[in-house]
Amino acid sequence: MSASTTPHDLWQQLRVTFPDDALLEQAKAYSTAYLQQVNEQRVFPDDAALSALDHFDEDVPQGVGDAQAILRSLNDYGAPATSVHVGGRYFGFVNGGILPIGLAARWLSDAWDQNAGLHLTSPIAAKLEQISEKWVVDLLGLPTGTAMGVVTGTSTATLCGLVAGRNALLKRQGWDVNTQGLFGAPPIRVVMGAHAHGTVKRALALIGMGHGTAEIVPVDEQGRMDPDQLPELDEHTLLILQAGNVNSGAFDDFVTLCQRANEAGAWVHIDGAFGLWAAASPSKKHLTAGIDLADFWSVDGHKTLNTPYDCGLVLCKDRAALAAAMQASGDYIHYSDERDNMLYTMDMSRQARGVSLWATLKFLGREGVAGLIDRLCEHATLFGQELQGAGFRVLNEMVFNQVIVACDQPAVTQATLKHIQASGECWCGGSRWFGEPVIRISVCNWMTRPEDIQRSVAAFVKAREDALRDIANL
Ligand SMILES: *Cc1c(COP(=O)(O)O)cnc(C)c1O
Repeated sequence: MSASTTPHDLWQQLRVTFPDDALLEQAKAYSTAYLQQVNEQRVFPDDAALSALDHFDEDVPQGVGDAQAILRSLNDYGAPATSVHVGGRYFGFVNGGILPIGLAARWLSDAWDQNAGLHLTSPIAAKLEQISEKWVVDLLGLPTGTAMGVVTGTSTATLCGLVAGRNALLKRQGWDVNTQGLFGAPPIRVVMGAHAHGTVKRALALIGMGHGTAEIVPVDEQGRMDPDQLPELDEHTLLILQAGNVNSGAFDDFVTLCQRANEAGAWVHIDGAFGLWAAASPSKKHLTAGIDLADFWSVDGHKTLNTPYDCGLVLCKDRAALAAAMQASGDYIHYSDERDNMLYTMDMSRQARGVSLWATLKFLGREGVAGLIDRLCEHATLFGQELQGAGFRVLNEMVFNQVIVACDQPAVTQATLKHIQASGECWCGGSRWFGEPVIRISVCNWMTRPEDIQRSVAAFVKAREDALRDIANL
């Protein structure tokens, strides 16, 4: 746009070019070029790429810019500063990859720019979340009729779940949190394992239940809650379990724990961010036996299922309890007889996340979902075995997609991790496992192949050599 372009000209010009804007073609070309070379790119950016991010430091631009140039700067300075989540050698945190169908569906639904809150604002978003709900409940073997909402991630899903559980437990005691608030409410107990995820604690804090007041159940050497040390439960208790320990990938004993909770009338929440998907694999299903006895499940699409980001699932056995907790009303909100997505989440306006979720499930099907889960688990086991062969210690039972690795000395482990992260060959995070510093591997991307694991193991070995040399030179 030239300096003489008037605002009127701008909107007129955009109207004309929008349908087949060269910008969209350019975005596709940049994306394709990125994906074509991504397995050659460093897995984490080097210092030069990080310093170049200074390019973005500027004050608020005064006038209308040049869209092509904006997109070009994103490509030129942004792409090299990505950590390569779409490639096969990123094993940090529990970050899933992205399937082509999910990416394509996201592009298309972004062009639709739907507000997925109501059936009235987007019939297609309502339809695809309704279908996805039915499919997810079936794939995970949850009770028929379980309600599902699509949120940004498990952090938010857990928040929704604990609100629903808290409110349901108080309602049974004749207390309506929505109108009466929490001050003066009858007490509610929270029981959770010593390895409950940080997002569970944050959710408890956010909803005014202070995680410091929770009764903590000790865990075994894999991080599983010890059922023998479960306190007496009652109908005022929120029991929080875990499908997939964030370090070891271990699963709580749901059959025993949920039965105890059901007998006592407690509410059971399962944080299954990545592990709940074990239920969709015939070879891993045994890990999740008993999950159907819970009341609420929080799980991600963007981890194990490899959907695009911003896909967390809220799953509640009692549809009315979820809708009551997420209550939203206003004279201008017209609920329909069809599904209204905003009944099941805290959002009103939001993107149509269910579109890429639906497309991913439709593409994979039951067999594809199981195949994906098995592939991740097999590669994690291979990674652990290869590392053991190279003299590293594996500290967990490799039941799912997580491997906890250490060297002979804590200082060597820490220095090795630094060298791995600096190598650009692969990327793993660090953690502590019963006090010991460890390297944490999560195989969570369909893209990972055995070759990627071999190359990563070589990077581990080289990093340990460098670490030992550093220490010897101290
Ligand atoms: C990742 C994770 C979470 C948080 O999920 P987000 O999608 O990152 O919000 C919660 N619990 C466990 C066990 C996780 O692995």
